Amino acid sequence: MTTPRAPLKSLDEALAALLAHAQPLAGTEQVSTFDADGRVLAQDLVSALHVPPQDNSAMDGYAVRCADVVEPGVVLQVTQRIPAGQHGHALEPLSAARIFTGAPVPPGADAIVMQEDCELVNECEGGVRVNATPQPGQWIRRAGEDVTRGAVVLARGQRLGPAALGMAAGIGQSQLTVVRRPRVALFSTGDELVMPGDVPPEQMPPGAIYNSNRFFLRALLQRLGCEVTDYGIVPDRREATLQALQGAAQNHDLVLTSGGVSVGEEDHVKPSVQQLGELDLWQISMKPGKPFAYGKLYRSGPQDACHFAGLPGNPVSSYVTFMLLVRPFLLRLQGVADVTPVRMALPAHFELKRGDKRREFLRVRRNAAGGLDLFPNQSSGVLTSAAWGDGLVDNPANTTIAKGDIVQFISFAELMG
Ligand code: AMP
Ligand code: MG
Repeated sequence: MTTPRAPLKSLDEALAALLAHAQPLAGTEQVSTFDADGRVLAQDLVSALHVPPQDNSAMDGYAVRCADVVEPGVVLQVTQRIPAGQHGHALEPLSAARIFTGAPVPPGADAIVMQEDCELVNECEGGVRVNATPQPGQWIRRAGEDVTRGAVVLARGQRLGPAALGMAAGIGQSQLTVVRRPRVALFSTGDELVMPGDVPPEQMPPGAIYNSNRFFLRALLQRLGCEVTDYGIVPDRREATLQALQGAAQNHDLVLTSGGVSVGEEDHVKPSVQQLGELDLWQISMKPGKPFAYGKLYRSGPQDACHFAGLPGNPVSSYVTFMLLVRPFLLRLQGVADVTPVRMALPAHFELKRGDKRREFLRVRRNAAGGLDLFPNQSSGVLTSAAWGDGLVDNPANTTIAKGDIVQFISFAELMG
């Protein structure tokens, strides 16, 4: 007898549900700006000064008054020299200041003439002939043209990258208040798993495989700013699974597992989560990645719970569900508002004769002709597709692709940081 099955949740529904559970973490910490790459700002960063602080020269050359140089060939007296880091004094009429890139423009000057357009005049000591007629403001970088005093330079919830660190430093911040790192416990399940290094390839027993998920999951978590406790491999036994999950739930924000969330008798993760807390999501209409699970592991009760996410064991399913579901969840935990990866409309340089009944994420690579090539083997066990590829095509359910069709591409770079 078959029991009617509820339709699987769509990826969009699952993601919305997941994000609804992701209450941003309350804790913050102070870190050196040097160490803040990849962290999320916990408060707005307001500039207490203009950047640049004053009008300054964008060129090595001469600061002049435009009114003095109405035609090329005018000779001006060079009355001061202003290197970067110093400041000059008011520029008298018919005089020029030798000036270097980054040096403040002296009062009275209203343009810089680059040195290539000037020549020193021998017969008249200290003179410079200006061979161009400058426009007011020429080669002057205005005070505050990058940042004005009082402006919010970087907003709370912004993920910091290298350029943002430079901006923070540029307004004088050597320390930043960031959201604390999510604490994530990582488990691999599967009695077939062996750690590389423990057994050499030629001595692998029949049925054994190396644990690859552990390596990419830890790396992905770290790229997202998480503090990872890696508990290694949990055996496929109920008691061991219960113990591992319950222990890790005490002092982590998220327990992340791979494998053991399908429907076989050896899949102990799902029933263990149901026993220790609640299972809010299970099985999603996507390919790869159908067995994804989300729930909570109670500490003292439902109000005091640790998040749980169970990834499928197949490496590509694990990889893709992490990127499409766990990544936005972890970013939202850190207070990032916009967690939607950017998509690009690109031409397929391949064909897909049969669309899957589930929304499918194909591993593809951009080619030099501006299109996408498909990895020939799209099996969820073939991790080569993810290592070879540089992104995913988001292909709607039951959709075939003909060569030249415009498809939706999401780059792995976008999904990893
Ligand atoms: P499971 O979801 O536990 O049924 O596993 C599905 C498939 O993924 C099986 O072929 C497993 O051997 C494989 N698998 C599970 N975990 C890992 C892992 N950590 N590394 C590589 N393959 C795995
Ligand atoms: Mg398994």
